[in-house]
Amino acid sequence: MSMADRDGLIWLDGELVPWRDAKVHVLTHTLHYGMGCFEGVRAYSTDEGPAIFRLQDHTQRLFNSAHILNMKMPYDQETLNDAQRLVIRENGLASAYIRPMVFLGSEGMGLRADNLQVHVMIAAWEWPSYMAPEAREQGIRIRTSSYTRHHVNITMCKAKANGNYINSMLALNEAMSCGYDEALLLDNEGYVAEGTGENLFIVRNGELHTPELTSCLDGITRRSILEFARELDIPVRERRITRDEIYIADEAFFTGTAAEVLPIRELDNRTIGKGSRGPITEQFQQMYFDAVEGRRERNRDWLTVAT
Ligand code: PMP
Repeated sequence: MSMADRDGLIWLDGELVPWRDAKVHVLTHTLHYGMGCFEGVRAYSTDEGPAIFRLQDHTQRLFNSAHILNMKMPYDQETLNDAQRLVIRENGLASAYIRPMVFLGSEGMGLRADNLQVHVMIAAWEWPSYMAPEAREQGIRIRTSSYTRHHVNITMCKAKANGNYINSMLALNEAMSCGYDEALLLDNEGYVAEGTGENLFIVRNGELHTPELTSCLDGITRRSILEFARELDIPVRERRITRDEIYIADEAFFTGTAAEVLPIRELDNRTIGKGSRGPITEQFQQMYFDAVEGRRERNRDWLTVAT
C-alpha cells in the first residue's frame, strides 16, 4: 500500500489532517535541497497501553538537529510530545513507528532560504521489524561500503538531517545489490563510523567497544545499551575502531530505533565470533525488549504512555 494512500490522521502544523490530504507543493524547499530534520521513534505495546520509548530524548534530539541546521522551531517540545501521543491515540495504534519531520515550505526557492516557513509533520504507522524476523537470532551479513561516512565538517553528523541520508541510501543500495543485508560505513580516515541507520558495537574479551561520537549519530538505542552495560558491570570503551577489529570480535551488533538490537554475523565475508547471536548481544536484546515493552521497572521512566 502506498504511504500516501492510507486511512488515518497526520499531524501537520498543529492540526490533525486526513492522511490522504497531508500534502505539500512540488516547490517545497526541503524537497529540492534536503534541508530538514527528522526523528524515528517507536511506541510499543505494554500492559498500560501503547508507550513511546524515550520520547523526550527523541524530541530533544529533533530540537538539537533543527538548532544545528539553524531552523527555527515553531513549537515547543511539550507540544510535539503531546502531538506524538495524539497521533498514536487518534490512529488507534497499539504499537507504532513515529516519524516527526521539520521542513521548509514553498515560499521561495534558492539557497538563501530566507523568510521560509518552518513546518512540522508527525505521522505514525505500524512498522513491525526492519529486518526479517529471524535476523534477531541469526544475525545479518554486512559489507564495508565503498562510500565514506560524512566528514564532520561537511554535513553535521549530530543533526539527523534529511540530506544526510543520501549517503545512507547509496551505501545501503550498494550493499543490498551485492547480496548483503546492510552496509558498514567508515569515516574519512578509515575508522568505523556506523551503519546506514544504526550504531555499531563489538564485544571482545568481555568488553564492549563502540565508535566515539564523532562521525556517527548520537543514537538513543546506543545510549540505552551503554546504560545496560553499566548495570551489568561490562567495561565500555568508546573509541576509534578499525574494520579488522570487527573481523576478530567475539560478537558484533547494530542498534537503532528501527533495527532495535541486531546481531551481525558476518562482515566482508568473514564470520564474526561463532557466526550467530552471541551471549552478550542476546542479553542486551532481552534487556532492550523488556525495557521497551514495560517489563523493566528501573527503566520505567523511559516510557510515555500514549493514552
Ligand atoms: N545512526 C544513524 C545514521 C541513524 O539514522 C540512526 C537511526 N536514528 C542511528 C544511528 C540510531 O539512532 P537511534 O538509536 O536513536 O534510532
